[in-house]
Amino acid sequence: MRCALINGERHEAEPRLVGTCPGCAQAMIAKCGDQRIHNWAHKGMRVCDPWWEPETPWHRAWKREFDDAWQEVILHDELAEKHIADVRTDHGLVLEFQHSHISPLERQSREAYYRNMAWIVDGTRRKRDLPRFIDGHRSLRPTPWRGIYATPFPQECFPSDWLDRAVPVFFDFAGMEPLDQRVGIERRLLWGLLPGRADGHAVIVALARQRLVLAARTRPQIVPAREIVVTLGYRYRAARVEGRRYAGLPAWRRRTRRRHATRF
Ligand SMILES: [Zn+2]
Repeated sequence: MRCALINGERHEAEPRLVGTCPGCAQAMIAKCGDQRIHNWAHKGMRVCDPWWEPETPWHRAWKREFDDAWQEVILHDELAEKHIADVRTDHGLVLEFQHSHISPLERQSREAYYRNMAWIVDGTRRKRDLPRFIDGHRSLRPTPWRGIYATPFPQECFPSDWLDRAVPVFFDFAGMEPLDQRVGIERRLLWGLLPGRADGHAVIVALARQRLVLAARTRPQIVPAREIVVTLGYRYRAARVEGRRYAGLPAWRRRTRRRHATRF
């Protein structure tokens, strides 16, 4: 963990410090090797949050985008099990930054427990994920809204274990690499797969990192995911019923664009 309590105050790990866990009050020791980022670890073997995973510099960089008081927020479920949300904002939005492998059951439990949450997945850990997205994202179809795309084949873009989630999943293909102008949009933007389908289409939102951070800081949701998917689904269905192809009619899209100036 990034912070432990010393005399009731949150402290980052520094060599030789001893503190207590804000979740379970067990003793914690500061781990400050040269190779790893500074961390607090429970002194005993027991970790109080069964969902906790070791942090990476990538986790830290993301968490630092948010207010200190919003990081590592401790919540208790009905079974009195403790969970430490990576980030929980004042609007009640939980962000979980996922680097390592996570079991389907655990993924589901976290979504059910936090409800208003979004995953941010480190898309650089597995070698296949970025090449798949670089190939696959060309098949994304535009929608009437800027930065929002749809595809009937999300498996061509994203790893299968993240396809059918109940909450938005944003893929970060940049990782910790510094980004310059030459880097493609695949890595410069975050790509969020929204839950549900719009008449069989997966809906994807592309956001710059700073826009995502700003939205997460100031709104109860990063994007109104349900509204977007439902609205788009309605339009796709209407087009299908009338026997025309939604994305293939520029005139219709021009008209729609003018009449519905909605921006999500
Ligand atoms: Zn603890």
